Amino acid sequence: MNEEGCVTIEDTLVEIQRFLKLKVKYYNLDGKLIEKEIKGSESVCFQHELDHLNGVMITDSCRAQKISKNIEFLKWKHGNNDDE
Ligand SMILES: [Zn+2]
Repeated sequence: MNEEGCVTIEDTLVEIQRFLKLKVKYYNLDGKLIEKEIKGSESVCFQHELDHLNGVMITDSCRAQKISKNIEFLKWKHGNNDDE
């Protein structure tokens, strides 16, 4: 299980169980039906974006195993915003 972030929910990482290999079907921008197997990070990204299309965010309780703040990101961000 990997930690996953989302640009919509800044500073947050969530442990989510994802399939590492998928067979997918979709239409590309030219309207051609594509069927292929995807795996690894491409598979995780596909599921993440498909969740968005279905209105599901990584923090939704049915998906999230553990929600945590990205402490290193927060330190970096606030360290760079001292002059604001
Ligand atoms: Zn996202």
